[in-house]
Amino acid sequence: MSRILVTGGAGYIGSITVALLLQRGYEVTVLDDCSTGHADAVPANVTFYQGSILDGALVRKALEGCDAVIHFAAKSLVGESVEKPDLYRNNNINGSQILFDEMDGAGVTRIVVSSSAATYGDSKEQPILETHKAHPTNPYGETKLAVDNSLADLAAEENFAAISLRYFNVAGALKGEAGWIAERHNPETHLIPNVLKATKDQPLKIFGTDWKTKDGTCIRDYIHVVDLAEAHVLALDALKAGSHEIINLGSGGGYSVREVVDTASKVVGYEIPAVNVDRRAGDPAVLIASIDKAKSLLQWSPTRNLEAMIRDAYETLKAV
Ligand code: UDP
Repeated sequence: MSRILVTGGAGYIGSITVALLLQRGYEVTVLDDCSTGHADAVPANVTFYQGSILDGALVRKALEGCDAVIHFAAKSLVGESVEKPDLYRNNNINGSQILFDEMDGAGVTRIVVSSSAATYGDSKEQPILETHKAHPTNPYGETKLAVDNSLADLAAEENFAAISLRYFNVAGALKGEAGWIAERHNPETHLIPNVLKATKDQPLKIFGTDWKTKDGTCIRDYIHVVDLAEAHVLALDALKAGSHEIINLGSGGGYSVREVVDTASKVVGYEIPAVNVDRRAGDPAVLIASIDKAKSLLQWSPTRNLEAMIRDAYETLKAV
């Protein structure tokens, strides 16, 4: 029986990955400081340490008995990273370094890491290949790139087996045995939950309508969180000693903010109230993933479309 340490396992993507790991027969330890995660998202049959990856002694304890790590614990909001770059550097870069040092010390050298399309920055080439030059446009993307770069060094120098999964835009939810596991951010900044929460009094703000895209709004590649979590479980089997792979996870296609609003209006059966406002700092115009590498290395393909993501996110709101 294999035991996996999931850092950030009380968060949105982390807790859904934990649920899939348990379904597949893995044992799980979670380390999460619950700054954005929720302790009640951690199932009872998981060993749970509430604390930070910046705490080396706690990381050492959490690693006991583990064969591999899936590392989610990080600050992950583009807008906040522009305002608080030092917070992002400390949590994401220093925190990851402490985790990697403790792994090295404990002889645990297999790791799947949550990276981001924000590492690529504003790209003229779409879809974006993993070989694309990394040019982040915000501190969040810079921290994710720094972590990916240290994993490349650890694979070369310490024989680590590492995979960085570069997510595009994640949405949707999982209906588990104990109910829906969904996005619960406060404040919520992501498009799909905000679309579903919009009211006449508090309409959705569409950030920028003057981008060089077909309808002037930003284009993103949306992926269902369960497809994304499944890729993490498959990545554990694809780890190879001495190798660091970067793999994009998206759907391979893009939707504009307006198309998301229109699809959501169809799902909920009324027109989502929306207003146009200025661009948001740090946003690139278009991000679409090339997912050929994920298909070939992980034997993975996404199976849930934008409508399914919005429907599942909507169901979770109705269930509250
Ligand atoms: N967006 C928007 N209104 C919102 C939230 C997001 O117009 O309330 C836009 C945002 O500018 C971006 C896209 O929706 O173009 C996706 O943003 P999100 O924050 O969901 O993810 P990101 O691409 O920043 O990771």
